[in-house]
Amino acid sequence: MNGGTVLVRQAMILALDEAERILESGDILIRDGVIEAVGMVPADAAATADRVIEARGLLAVPGLVNAHMHSQSGTMAGFADRLSHPAFMWLTQAHTSRRTPDEIRLAVLLCATQMLQSGTTAAIDHFPGQRFTMAEMDAVLAAWAETGMRATLGMRFFDGDFGDIVPAGAGLPPELAAAAASVDILKPHPLEALREEMPEIIRNWHGHAGRIGVFPAPSNPDRCSDAALVFCAELAEQHDLGIHTHLLETRAQAEIAARRYGTTTVEHLDRLGVLSGRWSCAHCLWLTDADIARMAGHGVVAVHNPESNARIGAGRMRTPDMLAAGVPIALGTDGSGANDNLILQEAMRAAALLHRADLPDRTRWVSARDALRMATEGGAKALRLEGRIGRLAPGFRADLALYRLDRPWWVPVNDPVAQLVFAETGAAVSHVLVDGCLVVEDGRILTFGAAEALAEMRDRIGSLKRRNADLFAAAEAIARAIP
Ligand SMILES: [Zn+2]
Repeated sequence: MNGGTVLVRQAMILALDEAERILESGDILIRDGVIEAVGMVPADAAATADRVIEARGLLAVPGLVNAHMHSQSGTMAGFADRLSHPAFMWLTQAHTSRRTPDEIRLAVLLCATQMLQSGTTAAIDHFPGQRFTMAEMDAVLAAWAETGMRATLGMRFFDGDFGDIVPAGAGLPPELAAAAASVDILKPHPLEALREEMPEIIRNWHGHAGRIGVFPAPSNPDRCSDAALVFCAELAEQHDLGIHTHLLETRAQAEIAARRYGTTTVEHLDRLGVLSGRWSCAHCLWLTDADIARMAGHGVVAVHNPESNARIGAGRMRTPDMLAAGVPIALGTDGSGANDNLILQEAMRAAALLHRADLPDRTRWVSARDALRMATEGGAKALRLEGRIGRLAPGFRADLALYRLDRPWWVPVNDPVAQLVFAETGAAVSHVLVDGCLVVEDGRILTFGAAEALAEMRDRIGSLKRRNADLFAAAEAIARAIP
């Protein structure tokens, strides 16, 4: 699939390499999916390359990494403004439950279309929102393989309580508690089943096509038993995987942890002996100073989702403090229910802007370069592909996007890093390569029929909503009870 040589010729190059090189005009030679040379390439490269991409007037940038998204929420853009987190979570359940394998595939294609066309080449899909079946995991993984993207599936599970969205005795009228229980979708996944299923999914899919990864992925540590968390750590160690999770997205989750563990979730994970650089944790909003030091010490990756956090009012990650402490930070959009698009340039911009108004010390601001580093190097760390993706440098996998410099926000090119973060919306992307394969050409996706997939998804939505009418009714009732 990625055999042969590709020459990207005469591009402006933002290498994001150690020397922070920006080349006014240079070539990129790719062999068998790996970048062989950047800048000057052998004189006969054009004559011998299997494919030459003429890139004069285009800017080559490493593909961006969306380190936290949910493919199942891809159809939720524009959903319900100003909802509480529990109400939002129930609405998400109503919208994403009981999908067929075909609908799971279409949702992946919908998300991949948006990411590829805006220059994102890799993602972590934290999937699904309910107890998974093997057929669902096969469907989602086959769909990611089909897209041509580099994707890691976080096998999302919980074997405990969803206490933060069904607060016991927190004013939920009995009839609503009964309604929530009767819809019967948030069934815990027994650990005995996970012990059988997860290794099988890893065996079948991890490393598939050189682009597909599989990580164990607690929905949230405090929705899981300690035994399940230990199992994840052992599994990750055994197969050399990452572990992906949500962590301390809401204040309610921090309070549950305090009651349950008598300490913070981060300290609990550390005491349990499972905390390590294998973890990538989405949100990380309600951290103490000690938690931040602990995460930095272990190299735990925080996946910042600035727009989602603001959209649902969950809180604000302490990015300047975490950068200063040396916590590795990646960037995510989160699912489209909590943040309506999967445009990572917008997440970069939000990450860079979020703290400026109330932080007088400008040296502590998140710079454009910091934000871009989160979306490249940070994402590579989250995927456990550090040193393999995130740079245009010899030896790195050829994941890159070409941006048209004739777009108004690129005229003139003043500072490629600042313009990519502050001005770009993904709309200037014309070509995308993943693992040396051309997957987007002149804005058109080559790996699957994007227009057909979108049309088919649009056709399915009505039946999906009718199928889950009981869940939507329960979600509405819960939204009224927990405004
Ligand atoms: Zn999420």
